[in-house]
Amino acid sequence: MFCGVVAGALPAHVVHEDARTLAFLDLRPACRGHTLVVPKAHVEHLWDADAETAAAVMRTAHEVAALLRDRLHPDGLTLRQNTGEASGQVVPHLHLHLVPRWHGDGTIGWPWPPPEHVDLPGLLAELRG
Ligand SMILES: [Zn+2]
Repeated sequence: MFCGVVAGALPAHVVHEDARTLAFLDLRPACRGHTLVVPKAHVEHLWDADAETAAAVMRTAHEVAALLRDRLHPDGLTLRQNTGEASGQVVPHLHLHLVPRWHGDGTIGWPWPPPEHVDLPGLLAELRG
């Protein structure tokens, strides 16, 4: 689907474009200004992207975040990336969501309170190996 947008075969409201990335307005926005950033080269997951692609996508996200702040004046911004079905990824082409936030908008929740038993030392040992 997003390869079609990159190729120009599908219409999009393009906010930013450079050699490696494209940013366009989400067709089903969580709020006004909800923008997606994708690499032009197809990768499905963040796990599939090489470091250069990941950096290019983040560089564009940084630029678009500034644009959204300057033009829409949100109180904050949520940056979200879903990798895999379990995370809520629907379109199988890597994309970052930039969601401008306003106080009290309730756009994106986060589980609260967090789980009671979180073994941080154990988790850190698992991550460090
Ligand atoms: Zn694709």
